[in-house]
Amino acid sequence: MPEGVIGRLRIVHYGHPALRERATPLGRVTRDVKDLVRRMAELMRGAAGLGLAANQVGIPRRVAVVQMEEELAALVNPEIVSAKGNEPAVEGCLSLPRLYGEVVRPAEVVVRARDLSGRRVEIAAQGLLARVLCHEVDHLNGKLFIDLVEESTLYWLVVPATEKAEQVIQPTTLEEALRVFSSAQAASSGDG
Ligand code: ZN
Repeated sequence: MPEGVIGRLRIVHYGHPALRERATPLGRVTRDVKDLVRRMAELMRGAAGLGLAANQVGIPRRVAVVQMEEELAALVNPEIVSAKGNEPAVEGCLSLPRLYGEVVRPAEVVVRARDLSGRRVEIAAQGLLARVLCHEVDHLNGKLFIDLVEESTLYWLVVPATEKAEQVIQPTTLEEALRVFSSAQAASSGDG
């Protein structure tokens, strides 16, 4: 990672090539990796997300941050080693803002990874945390929730201009959603 890159990181949206890349494993946890993780954690908290993979900041390396109950965990080279059951639930993604839809995920998973001190960690997770872990590992493999979504359940969450009005759910199709993201991406290319 070239010097100075970390501070300028931002969450990239659908259409950015890093989101479709299979991230490469990390070797030693260097100071650059720790800086990357710190910055990813800031971006994730700022966006009120539950997880963020390095692909989502344009860096296809195998590291993700995940909100566990109280603490935030950094997972280096995470792998799902077992999965059980199937559970549908509504899911969204910081790289596909305002788009939501139902995805069937394992109800329980076991994930192995390394932490920032290089120690092996094993996380047994259920429900929402299992879902977040699967979603982040998918990102590291270049996969997005829209690849798995039950298309008839896709919707935009329309956030009202005034706080008093209620949020509105607007059904959409995958085709329309991708068109919206592609034109937004085209409009923003050039601003870095
Ligand atoms: Zn995501």
